[in-house]
Amino acid sequence: MKRYIAKACPMALAICLLFLPILQGCAINEVREHSKNLFALNTWINIRIYAGREGPKIIDSAVRRIEEIERRMSVTIKDSDVSRINDNAGIQPVKVHEDTFKVIEKALEYAKLSKGAFDITVYPIVQLWGITTEHPRVPTDEEIREKLKFVDYQKVILNEDEGTVYLQEKGMGIDLGAIAKGYAADEVVRVLREEGVQHALINMGGNVIVVGNKPNGQPWRIGIQDPRSDGVQQHIAVVEAVNESVVSSGDYERYIKDVYQKTGVRYHHIFDPATGYPANQGLMATTVVAENSADADALSTIVFVMGAEKGLGLVEQIGNAEALAVTVDKKIYTTKGFDRRLTVTNEEYEIVP
Ligand code: ADP
Ligand code: MG
Repeated sequence: MKRYIAKACPMALAICLLFLPILQGCAINEVREHSKNLFALNTWINIRIYAGREGPKIIDSAVRRIEEIERRMSVTIKDSDVSRINDNAGIQPVKVHEDTFKVIEKALEYAKLSKGAFDITVYPIVQLWGITTEHPRVPTDEEIREKLKFVDYQKVILNEDEGTVYLQEKGMGIDLGAIAKGYAADEVVRVLREEGVQHALINMGGNVIVVGNKPNGQPWRIGIQDPRSDGVQQHIAVVEAVNESVVSSGDYERYIKDVYQKTGVRYHHIFDPATGYPANQGLMATTVVAENSADADALSTIVFVMGAEKGLGLVEQIGNAEALAVTVDKKIYTTKGFDRRLTVTNEEYEIVP
């Protein structure tokens, strides 16, 4: 009998120890990191949140929200709101979802503020160059002139009561590529906050948005991509952020590579609606920090199109964001005070005081 007990006790103890973590896990819903990658809105997205065992479910609802926004705002999805608006240009107003209406309304506000540097009706030009397609090409001046006739944000007619959008002329088209990711990021943050998430970091291909601070109480440190590191993830600077969005735009993400290799000219995907050519204000990249990601997204494109002086001037005038612009000769210009939370990490670059 004694021998039997002597054998059984250690065994029972071992079994208990084996199950202890599981028992503990049941009792305490420990907060830990949950992360997911997905491809949507034409870019790789990473969602990282800190939550208990409900984490994966929370991420799933954020993903559903992104996919919903993509279905409504993509120009490549045939029956999206945006495609229906474009198909009905010069024909009739189109009833759209509230999401789409809000984004277009905001885009038009930024078009006014930037005097057309930001213009979602640039789509005929975007299509002509096809930078983001498999067959990009440099069009002729004549072709560009022809398409520029259809670029005019003042011909986008919103009817708030009806919830409709109308493009006044046949041949017009809109593209929300410069603002939709920002809106989606804001919506992800809203979903996460509703679910009680206190710390999160979402990266949507250059659009970063953080919820709260880091779980250790420190501000998040967001790296600003080196625009000349040829696809390798290298930073030129780090910016501290809490409950904010850090959005970058530049000539380095999407451009016609073979033309660049032959001629050294970078034809990229951010267009100057005044000329129909890729914006050419001596910049390689811009970054905007704002509470709201849709604002930061629109503004990063705007600074890129307007150039350092005018663009940063506009951001200062609007007042709810901070920005930097990186010139082709590797100088970093910033809005007033922004350099305080900016650390340059690549000695080839310098902040111009
Ligand atoms: P990304 O989304 O690639 O990070 P942006 O936010 O600057 O970069 O958006 C670029 C996209 O916005 C282009 O691919 C095009 O669809 C659209 N676009 C290009 N030029 C303009 C412009 N001047 N105003 C509004 N949208 C633009
Ligand atoms: Mg943008």
